[in-house]
Order: sequence, then structure tokens, then C-alpha cells
Amino acid sequence: MFDYLIVGAGFAGSVLAERLASQLNKKVLIIDKRNHTGGNAYDHYNEEGILVHKYGPHIFHTNSKEAFEYLSQFTAWRPYEHRVLASVDGQLVPIPINLDTINKLYGLSLTTFDVEGFFSSVAENVASVRTSEDVVVSRVGRELYEKFFRNYTRKQWGVDPSELDKSVTSRVPVRTNRDDRYFTDTYQAMPLHGYTAMFEKLLAHPNIKIMLNTAYQDIVDMIPFREMIYTGPVDEYFGYRYGKLPYRSLEFKHETLDKPVHLPAAVVNYPNEHAYTRITEFKYLTGQQHLKTSIVYEYPQAEGDPYYPVPRPENAAIYNRYKKLADATPAVHFVGRLATYKYYNMDQVVAQALTLFRKLSAAKSVQATESTVQELNGSGKVWNDAITDISNNGVH
Ligand SMILES: Cc1cc2nc3c(=O)[nH]c(=O)nc-3n(C[C@H](O)[C@H](O)[C@H](O)COP(=O)(O)OP(=O)(O)OC[C@H]3O[C@@H](n4cnc5c(N)ncnc54)[C@H](O)[C@@H]3O)c2cc1C
Repeated sequence: MFDYLIVGAGFAGSVLAERLASQLNKKVLIIDKRNHTGGNAYDHYNEEGILVHKYGPHIFHTNSKEAFEYLSQFTAWRPYEHRVLASVDGQLVPIPINLDTINKLYGLSLTTFDVEGFFSSVAENVASVRTSEDVVVSRVGRELYEKFFRNYTRKQWGVDPSELDKSVTSRVPVRTNRDDRYFTDTYQAMPLHGYTAMFEKLLAHPNIKIMLNTAYQDIVDMIPFREMIYTGPVDEYFGYRYGKLPYRSLEFKHETLDKPVHLPAAVVNYPNEHAYTRITEFKYLTGQQHLKTSIVYEYPQAEGDPYYPVPRPENAAIYNRYKKLADATPAVHFVGRLATYKYYNMDQVVAQALTLFRKLSAAKSVQATESTVQELNGSGKVWNDAITDISNNGVH
């Protein structure tokens, strides 16, 4: 009998497997329908020996000391600050939009002090900021919105920014200085030997058994377990009873080129040309030295693996109905990006998993205390064992 069946071996499932096994001595079976662990963060050496991310570039960045220190037990890090260029009006300019972007695009030589005035002069007055379009035009005006955001968003999401919740573009900051880093988090680094190597360490505990190529529907009635942690799509778990939650998907086209470097930065975005949104060159991310280089093109799709929950009010309403069912399902814990229908970065999923672990471990220590009290009522001789039990279970 397993204490936990964990469905999905991405960050959510693997962090919980590791915590439950190593801290509470639980017997865990973790399964994944894919043929590998790591979920969407999975990386591998391709046929040319270059480390690539199968499901698109994954850059680790966080302000959470807890998440960073937790993962640091399972990997060394390579310091890495991500930089992205956008192809606009025949030039490659920094994105997020900063002082250099404006100067290069318009042939100006504004200073930090001038550029705020420039943004104010072009910004539109929007009474109530509701959509992604509102967010951008109220900050940088319609022209920059058209050049950088409108078409990119239409490609990425298949709908106009005016129909998307403001949360989608509020993720894209605008800077008045020359900082061209894509992220400004305190911790920015890549796992030194890659994500998959980190996942192997996370799951290398004798209490953890791994089954790959296994969908939970196929085994759930055959394998005895006490509780389940479910990190797959929540609508799938409940048989799509309130309908399918919409996702945006991507097709990844990987290529290896016979030259050491292809792009001038790790990522180039193409807001206005091509069917793909961006190209990533992996060697920037991994620091690998190689005579060849591998890149990936991302083509947004309506159908395919579920990658991005579509943040629209009607979808949130469907999710809330599923959440009520999830909350009322005892002994099944829904965690991670698909099970909570939210765009989470890796560090947020790690934090979410650690929070659930604390909750589970607090519940276990209450149970342990209650059963100890019952035993103590029956017999005085278990007193010493009980003290040991309580102290083991209480400190997490
Ligand atoms: C293109 C792309 C780029 C990204 N870039 C970044 C980035 O740069 N930085 C960042 O921090 N985050 C990034 N993310 C987000 C990151 O991928 C997620 O935060 C993270 O993977 C979430 O982990 P998870 O465990 O919740 O889900 P997942 O990694 O999706 O893992 C869920 C697992 O459950 C399995 N599963 C589902 N259903 C079943 C079933 N029925 N039976 C068995 N197994 C099942 C799936 O196969 C999957 O392996 C990116 C995501 C995408 C799509």
C-alpha cells in the first residue's frame, strides 16, 4: 500500500514526492503519462549532444529565498540573466521596452529623465484598465502597442488584446533606464547540469517509486494508496463535467545548425512577422560550448498539449465550479499549474507544493497526536514511543 499516489512528475508532483518521502517517511508512487520526469521543464541532450528544453525555454528566476534554497539541495547553479530582443521595423531592440529601445527605434538620444515624459506624451487616457490592450496603451501609447504587443498577443493567444484580461500583459514591464534584463528577480540562475538532472536527484529517495508512460486513469483502480496528489488538468479529473477548460498550446520546431552561434541574444521575439512568436538559442541558457548550436521555434496553436490557461472571466467561472468539486474531494490534493488552472512559473509551483506539504504535515501531526492520546488512554507503556512520534511529526 502506498501512502501517496502522485499524478504528474513535474515540479508540483516531484517536490511533494521528495518532501513526503524524506521528511515524513511516506511511501510514494509518482506516475507520469510521458516517458520522462520533469514535466514541461524536462531537458535532454539531443542527437548532436546539445542540451535542449523539449517544451520550450525554461528560465529559472525567483524572489523566493525558500524556493531557491530548497532546490539548491538538488542542484548547483549557473548564474544566468536572461535577455530578449524584439524584431521591430527591421531592427533588433531590447524587450521589455527600455530607454535604448526608444532611442534605437526613433533615432533619438533621450535620457532616463526624458523618456518618462516621452511615455506620458504618447500614453492614452483609459478610464478603467480592464483588458491587455488598456494596460499597454495607457502606459506606452498606441504606436508602441501596435509595434510590440498587438500582433504578438494575437499570435500567442489567438485573440485580440482587447479581449484578454489585463493580467496577460501586466506581466510585461516597461523601463525608463537601460536595464535590458528580462527579469529583475533576486535569484536568476539555471540548474548547472540541467533540469532533468535536478529532477533525478529530487526523486532519488528509496521511498519513491516512479512509473512513466502511465496515465493515472489506467492504474488508479489497480494500485492501493491512501491519498492522491493530482497535478494533471482538473477538468480531466472530473470527466469534463462542466466542459473543457480552454488552453493555448504550442508546437515546438527544434533545429540544429552547423555553426557555433545563431542569434545575437538568447531569444528573439517576432511580434509582426512569421507564424512563430520567438526563436530561442539554448546555448545562451546552458552555457554549453559546442561547434554546433540548437534553436527552437514556437508556433502557437489552439489544439495540443495544454500549456497556457486562457485568462478570461468565463473560463475563471468554469474553473471555480471545478474548484468547488476539488475542495469537496477528500484525500485528493490538487496542486500545480494544470490542477489549479493558473499560469504559474516554476518557482511559484515549488512554493505552492511546499505550502501544501506544510499543510499535509501539520494534518499528519494532529492525527498522530490524536491517535497517541487514544493509545495512551488504553495503556501507559507506549508513553515513550508516543513522545518520539510526536516530536518526529511535529517539527517541519
Ligand atoms: C513554453 C513554456 C515556457 C515556460 N517558461 C518558463 C520559464 O521560463 N520560467 C518559469 O519559471 N516557468 C516557465 N514555464 C512554466 C513551467 O513550465 C511551469 O511552471 C511548471 O512546469 C509547472 O509544473 P507543474 O508540475 O505544475 O506542471 P507540469 O510541468 O505540466 O507537470 C504536470 C505533469 O503531469 C502529467 N500528467 C498530466 N495528466 C496526467 C495523467 N492523467 N496521468 C499521468 N500524468 C499526467 C504531465 O505529463 C506532466 O508531466 C513555461 C511553460 C511553458 C509551457
